[in-house]
Amino acid sequence: MTASTQGEAPQFLGIDLGGTQLRVALVDAAGQVLAAERRETDLSGPDAVIAQMVALIGILRGPAVRALGVGVPGTIDRAAGTVLGVPALPGWGGVALAERLRTATGLPVVLENDAKAACIGEWRAGAGMGSDNLAYVTVSTGIGAGIIAEGRLLRGAAGLAGELGHTRLTEQPIPCACGRTGCWQALVSGPVLAARARAVAVPGSRLAALAEGVPLSSRHVGVAAAEGDATALALLAEMAEWLGVGFANLQHSYDSERIVVGGGVSALLEPMRAGIEATLRARLLPGFRPATILRAALGDDAGLVGTAMAARDATERGAL
Ligand SMILES: [Zn+2]
Repeated sequence: MTASTQGEAPQFLGIDLGGTQLRVALVDAAGQVLAAERRETDLSGPDAVIAQMVALIGILRGPAVRALGVGVPGTIDRAAGTVLGVPALPGWGGVALAERLRTATGLPVVLENDAKAACIGEWRAGAGMGSDNLAYVTVSTGIGAGIIAEGRLLRGAAGLAGELGHTRLTEQPIPCACGRTGCWQALVSGPVLAARARAVAVPGSRLAALAEGVPLSSRHVGVAAAEGDATALALLAEMAEWLGVGFANLQHSYDSERIVVGGGVSALLEPMRAGIEATLRARLLPGFRPATILRAALGDDAGLVGTAMAARDATERGAL
């Protein structure tokens, strides 16, 4: 391939707007990250962050870049290209982000919710590649999700479909960050696992020893479980059961071929796998096949790749 034809292969930029880090990647049409930059997110407000975005775009952009995608950790009006709200970053409500980036860079811009962006990334270039029916579930501080059904990302009437973390799984009055009780993410998350571990990490226990001098985290539970610690294994078994219940709800709703699990808690997928799969099988109605449960393949890059792929797909559709 000559240099001139290489220059003609289209490239896309993906931006991951995080509460602590702002990341920008140059991605080829197959979803491979060619180069990336990151900065600490400027907390003084949208004007400063948009200036950071434009500067990082300037570093990475070449002549082959066709369009730009931005993943937003909150709610967006995708058609208007505006941010409706970002819980972790005050001041973003009503910001016309797509228009401002388009004006500053001359590039077409598409916005995506961050969980949906990660879903698109795993679908186009990760553990979901080749499947037209998959659910992406990210489990970290809460639960986010994206559903690919019959080859399309499910959006819903207002673009909000997929808030599975707030489906109710128990009558127990366990509080959720949303203000309600019994939500799936009130039962399964990194902070929930850490809090349960702290409650049972009595002096002299393996968990207490592992966390000496540092806050006990879900990672410590994984370490103790790998050593065969019964308390840690019981904590993971409890979490695996709630994941299995949630996945059975997913399966009954969407009949997915694969369930791709991302987020920090996905590091504990293997020790929880048997429990998740047993619960899933036990709860499925006759005729339903259990989805293949896979750990996300792109890790922290899923959102970056996904926003770039969303920009690619929109370009190919002529929607930008
Ligand atoms: Zn909730």
